[in-house]
Amino acid sequence: MLVRTRCTHCGGHFVADPYINARHYVCGLCKPPARAGKGRTPGAIGTALSTQIA
Ligand SMILES: [Zn+2]
Repeated sequence: MLVRTRCTHCGGHFVADPYINARHYVCGLCKPPARAGKGRTPGAIGTALSTQIA
């Protein structure tokens, strides 16, 4: 089962596993893995974020 969890960083709601700590949840867009974050521009992340919320 998946639940919608609020990101503590951007305030957006994201589908996440229910066993995570929702009080400290940070979405993958705000806190991407070290490897995934390299080479990406802020603009690209913003576009992805808008898509996620919509
Ligand atoms: Zn976020």
